[in-house]
Amino acid sequence: MRVELLPSSVPTNAGRASPQFLSSYLIGDSLVIDGGSVGLLADVDRQLAVRHVFLTHAHLDHVASLPFLIENAYTPGPDCIEVLASPAVLAQINADLFNGRTWPDFLSLSTPQNTFMRATPIEPLQTVERAGFRITPVPVSHSGDTLGMIVDDGSSCVAFAADTGPTDQIWQELATRPTLTAVFLECSFPNSMEDLATKTGHLCPRTFATQRARLTDRVKVFAVHRKARYADEIARELAILGLPNVEPVTPGLPYDL
Ligand SMILES: [Zn+2]
Ligand SMILES: [Zn+2]
Repeated sequence: MRVELLPSSVPTNAGRASPQFLSSYLIGDSLVIDGGSVGLLADVDRQLAVRHVFLTHAHLDHVASLPFLIENAYTPGPDCIEVLASPAVLAQINADLFNGRTWPDFLSLSTPQNTFMRATPIEPLQTVERAGFRITPVPVSHSGDTLGMIVDDGSSCVAFAADTGPTDQIWQELATRPTLTAVFLECSFPNSMEDLATKTGHLCPRTFATQRARLTDRVKVFAVHRKARYADEIARELAILGLPNVEPVTPGLPYDL
């Protein structure tokens, strides 16, 4: 399974890694998890190839460029991008993004002959099939209705744990997946901000380690969602912990998992 975290910053400091502000994972060519950075892809043909966008939750860093993606991918006719999310998250993006003020109300504007966007509700632990992948949403511990996503292509399985504090159900579910190869796990704050991380449903290196311990060592774990200001500090603290098979993700690098 080919997975790429799509970059979200304009590189200005030659030789320095660009910070990551937004979240979108491209899986293959046509499946995306979260609409943070996908609408910023400079190669618009790659945006046109996207058919299905699964949303883990409606926080801005996970939906920010979804309006641009929908606009960029629009082609007159019945085909359009499908957005899949919990009913609560679909209601939030309708009220807050596609409301006719912030951006056009693409759902109301859509007719069967000319669609801008299609919204499909998904439910926890109800697997859906799209683009040759089986996607299973699993609740995690973040704001309200956040769903992690387990993606299975029949030979390997990769999990996207979304934003989450210490959690349980997704680790139980992944324990039943012998083909699990990799997990993208957030580590938003440094250890000095553990209280804030816990209050806001996020991880710091210390709590990240407790979650990593729920997986076997052979599973690759990518540390993602580091707050840009603390990214280096978090990477140093993770390195000191010496956790097995953990590495900070590289945005823009396709991984074959
Ligand atoms: Zn969030
Ligand atoms: Zn986030």
